[in-house]
Amino acid sequence: MPRRATKRGAERTPLRRDCDVLVCGASFAGLAVARELAGSGADVLLIDRYEIGERQTSACGIPTAWLHALALEGSLRQTFGELVIHTPHGTVRYDLPWTFSTFDYGTLCGLLADQGSFDFETAKVDGRTGSTIHTDRGDICAPLIVDALGWRRVLGAADNVQPPDALLSRGLEVHPFGSGQDLEIWIDRSYVPAGYGWSFPADGELRIGVGSFDPRFHVRDPTERLARDLHAETVRYQGNWIPHALRDATEDGVFFAGDSAGHCLPLTAEGIRTALYFGLACGRELRAVFAGEQTREQALARYHAFSAGHALPFRWMLRLQRLIPRVHPRVLAGSLRAIERRRFIHWAFGHYLNVAHPDFAARGVRPAPALATSTVRA
Ligand SMILES: Cc1cc2nc3c(=O)[nH]c(=O)nc-3n(C[C@H](O)[C@H](O)[C@H](O)COP(=O)(O)OP(=O)(O)OC[C@H]3O[C@@H](n4cnc5c(N)ncnc54)[C@H](O)[C@@H]3O)c2cc1C
Repeated sequence: MPRRATKRGAERTPLRRDCDVLVCGASFAGLAVARELAGSGADVLLIDRYEIGERQTSACGIPTAWLHALALEGSLRQTFGELVIHTPHGTVRYDLPWTFSTFDYGTLCGLLADQGSFDFETAKVDGRTGSTIHTDRGDICAPLIVDALGWRRVLGAADNVQPPDALLSRGLEVHPFGSGQDLEIWIDRSYVPAGYGWSFPADGELRIGVGSFDPRFHVRDPTERLARDLHAETVRYQGNWIPHALRDATEDGVFFAGDSAGHCLPLTAEGIRTALYFGLACGRELRAVFAGEQTREQALARYHAFSAGHALPFRWMLRLQRLIPRVHPRVLAGSLRAIERRRFIHWAFGHYLNVAHPDFAARGVRPAPALATSTVRA
């Protein structure tokens, strides 16, 4: 069980302590890393600027099998067997080979945290010098450092490329109370020229939003328009930048997992299961260091290669992300209808799930070393 020591205001005391593993960021990726270190004997410190589960970072949709694989069913809100896609020229319903579910962010983070064994502190991470992390509460030294801080890649060695020049999409959603039966997507240029809108029901709440692959395109107006078109209130906003290109998963001795390594999938902007998947992989490599099975350098090399070994599907999805906005809307609607056949959908979505398959969570073993070791850039 994590020992929490959240400090606010005057109680925000200086934080002076070192540890074996410092995991920065306590959302999907960071909690997955920490989970895999439970029982390893390592002194693990997890830090985040917010309490665990306090700030929802997404619409919280995930293949249901991932919730089962990690025993997170207690967070499940609503399950869908179909994906409904609207275009200005018609609607298609895809019968999925596996179900997709929405979940409650705070509950999921709490359940995942309970599977780990770590100390937790709230602190804002400002940067890094070697193996020293600078926070607003003081410096922390650790031989093993994980950046699970999201798209900013705060602990990278070089100056970070900032939006709108970085390879990032942007997304914004509102969370009105309401109900719905369908997982819905809008590919409609009247909302967003390159991107899509969505409505994810979550048992008493709707998560309605718009994502743009072009970081210069502002999504507030279209998000509010989509919500109004669905007769929903524009309340409880949540938005962020979303990476759409894989980056090196290690750099200058630091491990990166989740959005900080660009692990969010292009085209669909699905980044939760990949953050969990790569977080688990990272945690397993770190665990092997404490088991005396490998050195820190070997863990860095193996994890780097494992992540880079996924470059192909990421590259293909980025190509599709760039292609779809260029296709004439009528042709696109026709193509979406043409692939509605069950066999094709099952084949395509089967491959899509394989990019980060839930069996990986259940297997609990370190991935075999991948062949690819080179730097990956989109
Ligand atoms: C509007 C929107 C909707 C989305 N919907 C979905 C969806 O339905 N399904 C899906 O799979 N993906 C979705 N995504 C993508 C998904 O949210 C991300 O890919 C995912 O959250 C990545 O997880 P992560 O753990 O890497 O990073 P995050 O979830 O971004 O977590 C980063 C953590 O680091 C902390 N942090 C950041 N900076 C600092 C700092 N300087 N100091 C201390 N702490 C810090 C944050 O507080 C946070 O807890 C959506 C994204 C957006 C923007």
